[in-house]
Amino acid sequence: MRLDKYLANMGFGSRKEVKKLIKNKRVAVNEKIETVDKYQVNEQEDHVTLDGEEIIYQKYFYYMLNKPAGVITATIDDFEPTVLDIFSDQDFRMDLSPVGRLDKDTEGLLIITNDGALSHRLLSPKKHVEKEYLAKIDGIMTSADADRVASGMQIDGGEVCLPAKLIIDEVDEKNEETTIRLVLQEGKFHQIKRMIYTLGKEVMYLQRIRMGQLYLDEQLDLGSYRELTEEEMMLLE
Ligand code: URA
Repeated sequence: MRLDKYLANMGFGSRKEVKKLIKNKRVAVNEKIETVDKYQVNEQEDHVTLDGEEIIYQKYFYYMLNKPAGVITATIDDFEPTVLDIFSDQDFRMDLSPVGRLDKDTEGLLIITNDGALSHRLLSPKKHVEKEYLAKIDGIMTSADADRVASGMQIDGGEVCLPAKLIIDEVDEKNEETTIRLVLQEGKFHQIKRMIYTLGKEVMYLQRIRMGQLYLDEQLDLGSYRELTEEEMMLLE
């Protein structure tokens, strides 16, 4: 891999910025200052330093983001803030992408990675990886609703959903609101909102709390992210 690409991949700046670091003699490969930006680095074997500090090469990055409402699940957008705008300059990389999509007003667990194979594994319709959501509903949800969801309901008089699980956590009769959890095996466009709408009610708040075996870390503030731990990585295998 080219030295400038290697440095950019490791989060030391844009291609243009890292070229400057190389030109200014701040980068060494195997203890020798390297000023050629297209110098071919062997990521596994070469010893690269910036200002004398060793760089440990990492190919894949895995983050858990507690997505806030108001940002879109995209990498770049001319008009709206995206989930990648939340990343610091140091952690931002051009090749990071969100795994799956949450609506702009949906909060909660979003995995962000540059490992395309992991994204594929978690999103492939054939794998049926569960996604669990917590939702506040305007209206009273009933066991009849849960039965319809469990049988694989049709939404908008068209698409048929795979059987899903609806758990009623709390019914607030006075305000006519219900707190539910929904476990889906797929991710159709606006799926939960459309399912609930088909059942004659409306989603007021939606949060993803689990993907596969990985739960949203309750200690992670809304709008914050962190790298996944090794234990969490194992849960995704
Ligand atoms: N279902 C929705 O309607 N919206 C989401 O963001 C996720 C699932």
